[in-house]
Amino acid sequence: MNSLTVSLGVHSPLTPELRDRILETTRARMEEPAYRLLSPEHLRGLARLEARDDPIISVYLCLTPERRAAGGWQSMLSSLAHQTLLKSHEAASETIRRQLDRIETALNEQLPELGRSVVFFVCERLGIWRQITLPIALADRIHVAPRPYIRPLLRSWGEGDRNLVAVLSQERSRFFVDHLGQIEEIYRVKGQRIRGMLTDRVPRDRRDVLATQVLKDEARALAQMAEIITRELEPSYLLVAAPPDMHAAFVESLPKALVERVQEFAVDIHASSHAIGEALGPLREQMRRDQETAVLQELEEAAFEKVAIGVQETLDCLREGRVAALVVDDRFAAPGEQCAECKALFQQAPGDACPICESGKLQSADDLVDAAAQQALDRGARVEFIRYPETQVRLGKFAPMSALLRY
Ligand SMILES: [Zn+2]
Repeated sequence: MNSLTVSLGVHSPLTPELRDRILETTRARMEEPAYRLLSPEHLRGLARLEARDDPIISVYLCLTPERRAAGGWQSMLSSLAHQTLLKSHEAASETIRRQLDRIETALNEQLPELGRSVVFFVCERLGIWRQITLPIALADRIHVAPRPYIRPLLRSWGEGDRNLVAVLSQERSRFFVDHLGQIEEIYRVKGQRIRGMLTDRVPRDRRDVLATQVLKDEARALAQMAEIITRELEPSYLLVAAPPDMHAAFVESLPKALVERVQEFAVDIHASSHAIGEALGPLREQMRRDQETAVLQELEEAAFEKVAIGVQETLDCLREGRVAALVVDDRFAAPGEQCAECKALFQQAPGDACPICESGKLQSADDLVDAAAQQALDRGARVEFIRYPETQVRLGKFAPMSALLRY
């Protein structure tokens, strides 16, 4: 999808129609199958999927250039399929085989042109077919379970990995989405040519006042645009490059919640997407580190009753819906058990029955972290993976899994 050009100025204000159009195109862009901007809403939707009788098959396939050449992806997919079918029960293997064949056919018909990974979540009985292309390489795997396996998506996609970028100037502004390190221009805005407006008919002493007003009006319209896009995209940060007067007027017009997410950087207004990506590199890195440090600080400073420390206590609080933020050392993975009835998670259940609801339907969970992350998303909690070695060390007593609580 190409970027949309919008004109803003004294004679072309941000009308309700224009607002609707911006909203619509932002939404459409997020639904594009070829290069999906995975929004938190998409992830929450995935976390809600569940198929009790017929499992959901999650397939992660790396599509690096080497993989694309000479049938590389086909041989990886068939070897993963072979291993999966060996492990599955005979009764289930027929439907699994059919689904995997369908995925192979879909990729043969149209291999995504862009992207370094493709991810599928499919379930025949429930009619679920989700294909997501991502600009990053994720490890290959096939996972068969009642719920989709979303941990690789979540961990590669922490805070700071999805930003709205605004490169602003009075005559021309541009909005970009920065998603998993991939930059894409979504709007170009034609602004006001101030020089043309200040003709000799405008008294000299009025010129400055008029120029300031024009700048302010334009900055306000740009701020409103940013707000509309932000509502749809739920970006972590709003990264702004603008001359000082424009920057000040723009930030002044933003709602307070957005102001807190503004980060400044510098780049030329005519820079290519690639150059803007390069300019953002150090800032992105810094934001990720800062985010991890901030989460850790929140844990350290939280009142005793506002934190769950350790794996089982965190799992218990998740079940009770008390978790505001789930914090996990990225290296941690462990199998566990889950009650099919009440969804309670256990590192190790004390007996054969669920200690919460007494159901006998305890099932093994391959990855407690994935199951916990799904529960957290289900209940509107944040999920924070601690990925930097220095923050992982600082986790201390909160390792490998803890939570900030709502109550
Ligand atoms: Zn139970």
